[in-house]
Amino acid sequence: MLESMLALPVEKQIFLAVLGFSWTVYLWEAYLSYRQRRIYRSTTQVPQELGKIMDTDTFEKSRLYQLDKSNFSFWSGLYSETEGTLILVLGGIPYLWSLAGTVSGRFGFGAEYEITQSLVFLTLATLFSAVTGLPWSIYSTFIIEEKHGFNQQTLGFFLKDAVKKFAVTQCILLPVTSLLLHIIKIGGDFFFIYAWLFTLCVSLVLVTIYADYIAPLFDKFTPLPEGELKTDIETMSQSISFPLTKVYVVEGSKRSSHSNAYFYGFFKNKRIVLFDTLLEDYSPLNQAGDQGADPEGNDMPSESKVKPKNKKQGCNNPEILAVLGHELGHWKLGHTVKNIVISQMNSFLCFFLFAVLIGRRELFLAFGFNDSQPTLIGLMIIFQFIFSPYNELLSFCLTVLSRRFEFQADAFALGMGKASQLYSALIKLNKDNLGFPVADWLFSMWHYSHPPLLERLRALGNVKQD
Ligand SMILES: [Zn+2]
Repeated sequence: MLESMLALPVEKQIFLAVLGFSWTVYLWEAYLSYRQRRIYRSTTQVPQELGKIMDTDTFEKSRLYQLDKSNFSFWSGLYSETEGTLILVLGGIPYLWSLAGTVSGRFGFGAEYEITQSLVFLTLATLFSAVTGLPWSIYSTFIIEEKHGFNQQTLGFFLKDAVKKFAVTQCILLPVTSLLLHIIKIGGDFFFIYAWLFTLCVSLVLVTIYADYIAPLFDKFTPLPEGELKTDIETMSQSISFPLTKVYVVEGSKRSSHSNAYFYGFFKNKRIVLFDTLLEDYSPLNQAGDQGADPEGNDMPSESKVKPKNKKQGCNNPEILAVLGHELGHWKLGHTVKNIVISQMNSFLCFFLFAVLIGRRELFLAFGFNDSQPTLIGLMIIFQFIFSPYNELLSFCLTVLSRRFEFQADAFALGMGKASQLYSALIKLNKDNLGFPVADWLFSMWHYSHPPLLERLRALGNVKQD
């Protein structure tokens, strides 16, 4: 078989290799998911080790939730692999390219013809993927998440959100792409350095403006009101010299009852964002029938001490501080900087290899571009298809690294004396998000950006007093 493949013209070999690799990855992932589904199916009793951590009811709920999600991703994965293959085999990319040519020809742009055609191509391609992806995300949100009690969106909100997301993406993608194509065109021999510097600047600008100008288009951010929690967060930040400027609460409950916390910002201007679903005193989900929860979210209740005792969701203040101790650990230990450095080194390497490969006509021939070699198509072919083995390897390494960072951040929180609070916070968060605590080793090694709950608890529990 290999011999007959080698007898083919090189462009055919490239095409078959890309397709073959894509299916190899697909089958590998499908196999891993199958292993994990087998665990979901067979582990119907709470394992002894988890007896104190998880009650039977939550265990069963999370098992069914994860099983539904896994079955869903089997079908959506199969669909997208088939769709991708059909697009390649039937020449969807050259077709869309010539369609973009026709459309931009009608608009009559002359001088920067290729760039105009590229932008039209990009819009059509993102529109296509948004439209074909929509039924899947509707199903996932309104059938699966809904069934397991997570979904908080109405269909109207969801669709409006999708349109907004598409529009915002276009507003960023189109000018950035046209500048990038321009830089590649006029950059000369060292264009890859300028192109890399340009994407570096773009990502820095996006990170800077994202929280203030982009995220608020989608979600409501409210400063955390003065009070015990805020004072405690400020004190903790000071104790490790974290340059905290603001603490926000984001109304995540409008979308889903999943919970989270993160920080962002450059240098001396860091902000912390807490999901309202993380805060038991805040979560509107705990306040059904409570006069505090204004549906518009205009008047967040700040008198947080007088809440009923039977809390349904979220963490108490010491636990939130422990979660933040973990998050700030990521900062203090330089994880954020390390991730940025790795991703920029990677991006530089990719642009360099792109410069080496872009002149190869057979790459374009392989994907049906017989008499033109548009730069945008070259970017797509090389970054997406030719680099895909490298991308897979890189993403595996980053997943492994991320788990190391998570352990280190846990250990940091432990060092701040927050081990037992983090311990109970992790259990609560796992419960609120219906995480399933048992994982197939191969599946979790490949996919888990965070260590399995039990391993994290063990690492913390070694020093836990009670
Ligand atoms: Zn973390």
